[in-house]
Amino acid sequence: MSAHTLTVAGVAVDTRHWVGGERVTSAETFTDHSPIDGTVLGEIARGTATEASAAVAAARAAFPGWAATPPAERARILHVVADGVEKRIEDLAIVETHDNGALLRSHRRGVMPRVAHNFRFFADWLLKLGHDDFATRGHTNHVSWDPAGPCVLITPWNAPLMLASWKIAPALAAGDTVILKPAEWSPLTASLLADIAAEAGLPAGVLNIVQGYGAEAGSALVSHPDVRRISFTGSVPTAKTIAAAAAANLVPASFELGGKSPLLVFADADLDLAVDLAVEQYDNAGQVCLAATRILVEETVADEFTRRFTEKASALRQGDPRDEATDIGPNIHPRQLEKIDGFVQRALTAGARAVIGGHRGEGQFYAPTLLTDVAQDSEIVQEEVFGPVLTLQTFADEDEAVRLANDTRFGLAATVATGDKARAERVTAQLVAGTVWVNCFFVRDLQAPFGGSRQSGVGREGGTWSFDFYCDLKNTVTAP
Ligand code: NAD
Repeated sequence: MSAHTLTVAGVAVDTRHWVGGERVTSAETFTDHSPIDGTVLGEIARGTATEASAAVAAARAAFPGWAATPPAERARILHVVADGVEKRIEDLAIVETHDNGALLRSHRRGVMPRVAHNFRFFADWLLKLGHDDFATRGHTNHVSWDPAGPCVLITPWNAPLMLASWKIAPALAAGDTVILKPAEWSPLTASLLADIAAEAGLPAGVLNIVQGYGAEAGSALVSHPDVRRISFTGSVPTAKTIAAAAAANLVPASFELGGKSPLLVFADADLDLAVDLAVEQYDNAGQVCLAATRILVEETVADEFTRRFTEKASALRQGDPRDEATDIGPNIHPRQLEKIDGFVQRALTAGARAVIGGHRGEGQFYAPTLLTDVAQDSEIVQEEVFGPVLTLQTFADEDEAVRLANDTRFGLAATVATGDKARAERVTAQLVAGTVWVNCFFVRDLQAPFGGSRQSGVGREGGTWSFDFYCDLKNTVTAP
């Protein structure tokens, strides 16, 4: 085993970058800790502008060949990548759980199969594109989806490989080449993906991975003049920095950002279903961009809702994410835990009441928390906490429900629980959100547009929307 390999639960992971089909070191490293117990997983290559430039150069060199590869062949290779992911689901799941603390059972049965599906879906969708010919006064218009060039993809730690594959798969299908910069708190599964892609026969330089900090490797990548697309998932402040870098080079950029999504519970809802939907918001220890963290309940059922919620939430088991019986794992990092607790303590000082939780747990855990008596303009209602912290407010009628739901600078998602179809239609028509779920949550089809309104994002991805972003569309008009 090389000096550049670490092992997690018996799985070997290369700690170096992956550039032009080769492993590349850096002079310096950064330390990767497990959120489960704080243990050091290993030292990871810390990329700088040098490695970022080398990766962009490799992506640029590989671009003409990959762009010229027939779509059917690109799709075939992406299916082989998906096969490779499926063969290594157990390895990917255990490594991801050690690296970001999310539940092993959901990595095994939900997330990693979905990663494979992402590759298959975009491979297949590619082959459906390009049949948009139409006539103008006898002339034919032919729309082609041309590959755009090297793309920089920057991802966060809350669903590392899932979110990376959701960008890598459409970019590669489109004929682009890619440089991925994974989050520094969860760098490992991206490295395994490089191994899988190489085994699948993806040509050298088509997929490159640069590890490191956002302010070093990340900022060097997004400001590189040879990059043709930037796709970012992460926080609003980082997005603003990246948007400025993209603007300097006039590079199209897509942003999937944070949220403060509402769950509207009307008195006519199936209350048990509404409670289930609310408790589900603690998934991934609340580190989900789409989480409906603001629960808005019609006042006539608020007491009963709170009673049933408390009973159900109190039964959640917090603990080791490797244990199949665990419902909530640790939070990602001591710094994130500080941030979460800061939000909660300031809310309590301002007069909020903790129905459950309101404090840290042991180690890197935060007690699932529900806060009431919160003002609409308070920090806890307006700012994304990104931990297992929900607020509960009541409303008198539909108008007030919609007003509270929309009174935020975000617009990522919304969930509506109601037994009245006409009401569901009326309310959803007024909500500002990229995705609205009615009597359900987190049902996501890859052909649907996904993204946020307002400060929750710029652009939509999914199905054809992804190819809109990753391609340079060309219309060719031919005379009769
Ligand atoms: P973050 O913005 O701190 O970091 C995200 C990524 O950006 C990391 O890889 C980081 O290294 C990199 N980065 C930081 N500064 C950079 C710079 N100057 N230039 C280039 N790259 C830079 O976000 P985070 O804390 O890792 O993630 C949590 C946030 O992500 C939350 O706000 C969450 O809501 C959001 N998120 C959104 C979605 C979505 O689809 N809308 C999905 C998951 C997470």
